[in-house]
Amino acid sequence: MARKTLRDYIRTIPDFPHEGIMFRDVTTLFADPRGFRMCIDQLLHPFADQRIDKVVGLEARGFILGGAVAHQLSVGFVPIRKKGKLPAATLSQEYQLEYGSATMEVHDDAILEGERILIVDDLLATGGTAEAGIKLVERLGGVVTGCAFIVDLPDLGGRKRLEDMGMTVEALCA
Ligand code: AMP
Repeated sequence: MARKTLRDYIRTIPDFPHEGIMFRDVTTLFADPRGFRMCIDQLLHPFADQRIDKVVGLEARGFILGGAVAHQLSVGFVPIRKKGKLPAATLSQEYQLEYGSATMEVHDDAILEGERILIVDDLLATGGTAEAGIKLVERLGGVVTGCAFIVDLPDLGGRKRLEDMGMTVEALCA
């Protein structure tokens, strides 16, 4: 039998959380020791030759990935969270959703001027969440070296949106 690829560990749940959404459930990937190791190694691979000072994870599955990636690189981890969750002084960045808007926040002392930042999340769809994360990092003076995702849904335009901002975008599967 052929060895499982990363994609084989991800389960798709139709109509979650709303009708018409094909939800890519990466908890099955995270739960498998071989799958999770493969995922972290592959996420890091394109950035192996680069200086990275901190890893930023986007709430919530980006925290699981980002913690493991930061540990592997022996650098710090910074969470970007939905509004109202971080306890100290924050910067806020609003972004548009299909219906309405949302706000992401970062502690205003979490990133220092000139620090090189890798942003990670589980999935890139429209790119709105990642764009908000990039803007927060840049407003703090950080330099985004790249954005790494497990899944890219290219039809939703996120990759183009981030590349149009000059970002390096890496994804492990579609
Ligand atoms: P977007 O801002 O549109 O790029 O959406 C990306 C964020 O929403 C990520 O944090 C994902 O975890 C989540 N997300 C969007 N669409 C899906 C999907 N089909 N399956 C799983 N997560 C999704």
